[in-house]
This record gives sequence, structure tokens and C-alpha cells, in this order.
Amino acid sequence: MSKKVLVTGAAGFIGFHTVSKLIASTDYQIVGLDNINDYYPMTLKFERLKALGIHPDFIRYGKKTGSKLNNRFDFIRMDLADEKSLTELFQSAGFDYVIHLAAQAGVRYSIDNPNAYIQSNVVGFNHILEACRTYPVEHLAYASSSSVYGLNKEQPFSVDHKVDQPASLYAATKKSNELMAHTYSHLFKIPTTGLRFFTVYGPWGRPDMAPMLFAKAIMNGDPINVYNNGKMSRDFTYVDDIVNGVCGVVEAVPDENENGLPYRIFNIGNSSPVQLMEFIEVLGQALGKEVQMNFMPMQDGDVVSTYADISQLREVIGYEPKTDIKTGVGEFVEWYKQFYK
Ligand code: NAD
Repeated sequence: MSKKVLVTGAAGFIGFHTVSKLIASTDYQIVGLDNINDYYPMTLKFERLKALGIHPDFIRYGKKTGSKLNNRFDFIRMDLADEKSLTELFQSAGFDYVIHLAAQAGVRYSIDNPNAYIQSNVVGFNHILEACRTYPVEHLAYASSSSVYGLNKEQPFSVDHKVDQPASLYAATKKSNELMAHTYSHLFKIPTTGLRFFTVYGPWGRPDMAPMLFAKAIMNGDPINVYNNGKMSRDFTYVDDIVNGVCGVVEAVPDENENGLPYRIFNIGNSSPVQLMEFIEVLGQALGKEVQMNFMPMQDGDVVSTYADISQLREVIGYEPKTDIKTGVGEFVEWYKQFYK
């Protein structure tokens, strides 16, 4: 029998790719949920939904809209703050798995907009946990972030490292999610897996993140802002590799750990950090354009480098990122040129 899966944040970048992969398999009956907020242009979110067969004209708040392309996918526009509707959805659907990706994302935006992060990432996540408590699921997999490593110096970042120095409120909410999941795993035996994603890029990506911001500026002949004078590196991870990890993890329901809890955290990264200047060079080449740069100081909330130790995910699900930076950027640029032509 197919598994019923809720994917929150389904109109978002990673949510869209996750749903795309799940609907390719007859093993799943999927409900996507998203409030389609305007943190970045809603048109991109509606275009993603269209690509999944959900026409924007038929979306009604709180009501399921079926996909024209796949009868195993429904979409529902809902805010995580709406606990009553969320609980009713869990009651009527009886989910087996929840892949929770909805969140207020973005490190820099969190400095001036803290409330959005508390509402979506802390209060919203608590509503998901409560719904899983009331209508038990086999597994809740949720997005955490490499940003939880904050000011940690020891690299590569390992899930065994103690992390208690977030550099932004965004990171603090993601660390809070891990702590909240721990409590619910402990008190109510809800099986949870936290996924610390490392700088995800690829087609249908986020307009607030460097690859898209840079591509737009380069295509317009504008200079790009390069922070910390370019002395930064990121463990850029191609979205298909991330989604393979997410889909593998959701099937791997955690057994009780050494403390008797069905609770687990993984890094999902590329484990191969790239210098920002190298990334810009590869992007400029793929776009076939000259790149002009404004060198700027380090931004508040940012960290200098990220680097994932992925050994634990490799051990449990055989996770192996396959996409090098040239191939991934090439795929991104091909999509970008088509989408914004
Ligand atoms: P995204 O912003 O594209 O997607 C998040 C989606 O959640 C959006 O479509 C938004 O409308 C929805 N959302 C936000 N608040 C909501 C609410 N209160 N109720 C319902 N829907 C809501 O971001 P993404 O890049 O796809 O990220 C997915 C998850 O992965 C997020 O939790 C993010 O914090 C995490 N993450 C992403 C990256 C990355 O590099 N993209 C890195 C680390 C962690």
C-alpha cells in the first residue's frame, strides 16, 4: 500500500523538488502544504506549483487542489500558524510520513525581521509536532540547517559536535527545532530526523540566495556584492543530491538511539567546500559573461565557511552526493536562461 506523505513548504525550492521526486514513484500519496508567502516573488512559487500540475486559479485557502498531472498529488494552501486547520488536515489524511520543509528561510532577513522566524519556525514547528502527537505518524523528517554550527571552528562540521553558538536568529530557530524534536521524541516517542542542509543550489532556486542574486546581476552587467572580500567557502550541495538524501531518510525510520529515543540528526551536504571566488568564476563561465565585483566586509549573521561531515548519513542510507560544482551550476544556468528569458 502506498504511504501518505505530507510535504510542507511544497511551493518552496527544496519542497518542489522533493514532491517532484516523490510523485515519480507509485509508492506515495502526497499532500503538499504551503502558505505561498511573499518573502520572495510569489510568481516563482506559483510556477513551481504549475509544474506540479496545480493551477493557481484553483487554489483556495484551506482546501485541497488536485494535480492535473498526477492523481497522487494534492496541494493545500495553509499557514502553519493555523493550528486548527492543520490539526484537521492531519485527522482527515492520516499521514504516514511528514517531510517538514516550510520555514522562514534566510540568514540576513532574520536580523531585521525576527518575528517572522519565531512565528513560522518555532510556533509553526510546534503545531506540526502537536499534530504528530495527536495523530501519530511513522516518521517526521524536518529541515534544520548548517547554520546551527554558527561560530564553531572545528571542521568538517560533525553532528557529534556540540553546537550552541548560533550567529543569527534563523540559526537559533533551527537549533530550537532540534531541541523541540528531541523533547517530543522523548516524551511522546515521535520518531524524528533533523536534516542539516548545506547551501542548496540548482534549478528553481531561491531568488534571495547567492547563485540567483549573482546570475541576475551578471546577466544585467551589474557588479555583484562579494562579502568578506571573497574569503568565504560554502559546501554548495546540488538540489538533486539533497532530495535523494531527504527521500532516503524518510524511509529510514529511526530506531531508538543509545538514550532510548527515536531521535536523529544528519548533515546533508556535499562534503566538498568551494571557495566563493571559484563559484563565481564557474557561474560567470556558464553564463558566458564578464563578472564585475564589489568587495564588501563580512555581513552580520554570516559565517566564513561550511563543510559537512556526511559519514553518518552515508552509513545509514548510503548517501553519496554525485554532482560536482561545474555540472550543478551548468544545470542551474540552463534553467535560469530558460525561465528568465
Ligand atoms: P523556500 O523559502 O523556497 O521554501 C520554504 C517554503 O515554506 C516557502 O514556499 C514558504 O512560502 C513556506 N512557508 C514559510 N512559512 C510558512 C508558514 N508559516 N506556513 C506555511 N508555509 C510556509 O526555502 P527552501 O530553500 O526550499 O528551504 C526549505 C527548508 O530547508 C527550510 O526549512 C530552510 O530553512 C531549510 N534550509 C534550506 C537551505 C538552502 O540552502 N536552501 C539550507 C539550509 C536549510
